[in-house]
Amino acid sequence: MNEYKIFINGDFVDGRGGIGEVINPHDNKPVAKYHIANYEDVDLAVKYAREGFEKWRNTPINKRIRILQNLSKLLSDNLDKIAQIESLNVGKPISSAKGEILAGINVLDFYIGAVNKIMGETIPTLPGLFNYTIREPIGVCALIVPWNYPLMLTLWKLSPALACGNSVIIKPASWTPLSALELAKLCKEAGIPDGVVNVITGPGNTIGSYLVQHEGVDKISFTGETKTGAEIMKLASNTIKRVSLELGGKSANIVFEDANLNDAVNGSVWAIYYNSGQSCEARSRILVHKKIYDKFLSEFVEKTKKIKIGYPLNKDTQMGPLVSKTHLNNVHKYVEEGINQGAKLIYGGKKIEDGELKDGNYYMPTILELNSSENICFKEEIFGPVVVIMQFETEEEAIKLANDSKYGLAGTIWTNDVKRAIRVTNAIRAGSITVNHPLTAIPGLPFGGYKQSGFGRELSLDAIDLFTEKKSVIYKYTEDEVNPWRL
Ligand code: NDP
Repeated sequence: MNEYKIFINGDFVDGRGGIGEVINPHDNKPVAKYHIANYEDVDLAVKYAREGFEKWRNTPINKRIRILQNLSKLLSDNLDKIAQIESLNVGKPISSAKGEILAGINVLDFYIGAVNKIMGETIPTLPGLFNYTIREPIGVCALIVPWNYPLMLTLWKLSPALACGNSVIIKPASWTPLSALELAKLCKEAGIPDGVVNVITGPGNTIGSYLVQHEGVDKISFTGETKTGAEIMKLASNTIKRVSLELGGKSANIVFEDANLNDAVNGSVWAIYYNSGQSCEARSRILVHKKIYDKFLSEFVEKTKKIKIGYPLNKDTQMGPLVSKTHLNNVHKYVEEGINQGAKLIYGGKKIEDGELKDGNYYMPTILELNSSENICFKEEIFGPVVVIMQFETEEEAIKLANDSKYGLAGTIWTNDVKRAIRVTNAIRAGSITVNHPLTAIPGLPFGGYKQSGFGRELSLDAIDLFTEKKSVIYKYTEDEVNPWRL
């Protein structure tokens, strides 16, 4: 079995916090071992990341670009290998794993293109004074990543961080540490100077929170649960760290009576069940106009039944297992509680207990019909293949239901009425709204949340703001005497 060490200052070194096992969600058997960092390892990573920062910020821009281009090429060359590791570790279908890594490479390429376009401004100011601004890297950035899209989300953060001249310490989720460590190898091979990229693995509530509080860390870029994000804000406040948070969601998917029903059904099925529903922007609340409700529901159920659930490494598989047994049990508890609170189970609602999938964390795609937005399954992020469906009568009611959430990450509208699409888009309080298709995360376009879904926008040029400081330089260019107090 492969054993993965932590990566500090360009070397794989022993973690001094013990050894953990990575489990394959398909059969719950171990696939690899990994070293766990202790506090001294974190201190070391920070020390070298500080040195790495000085090296990287002073690396000429064209050289930085070439090194990052090497990394992009190496990721492409190693696509099959890394996708296989990601698929084994997370349980994602191999086709999805490849697609996501390619999407991550596109993000890297986008920010490589931005490296030499991180510009300042000249701002008109007081007579005799001349101003310009400079964008400078923040310093050492801790990139804390969840388990649902481990490599892709790491690249969402790493790419702008490095493009802006920062050094990083990556902290992957404990369930899925492997692809970040594979990435570390490629960073070294690409020529990224030692200390610029470091990867430490270990529990979030110990070494993660230690990293967040560390005096030598300047910025936290976090993706994960809302309650962890709240904790991180608190922990980071003592040292006034820059923080950006991509958190949970409970996104609405509104189907109006004039929608193209075939597209709406296909898109809605994908928007909830992709990655077994373990997506922050999963459209997990479907709201359907009363007139087409029965037809939509029956077609949605039929298409749900057709999803190919199976072994993630089979190339035809569309839905794999959930990431862990613990997570599977949490998802099922939500479904049970939702039913206790009055939800009607239309399809699924149980673990797959027989056949060749019985040892894995496979959960049936699940549809719950609701008549109240008070139901726990309407309110809470379940993060599994579970969708709630409700009917509405008026546009106002649809908007009210869509906004009836503490989250505000995404939303989808299905309608052929452009005026209505604009009205509803304007009314929904969420970071990404899609009209007549389900894709929310596209390199170059801002991605992030309103309300308790977080703050800061990734994937777009906005991320440059998240990984730079702005310095304002003010010159006097006249010969006038400097004597503000008329002394
Ligand atoms: P968690 O918040 O549990 O963990 C995310 C990361 O934070 C992990 O690396 C974890 O380490 C670490 N961590 C946990 N506690 C702390 C702490 N106190 N200090 C520092 N680090 C900590 O989220 P999940 O891994 O369960 O991910 C799922 C969540 O991510 C969902 O809520 C989902 O909506 C959200 N998400 C949001 C996205 C967005 O863009 N808005 C995108 C994707 C996911 P460890 O694994 O060791 O606990």
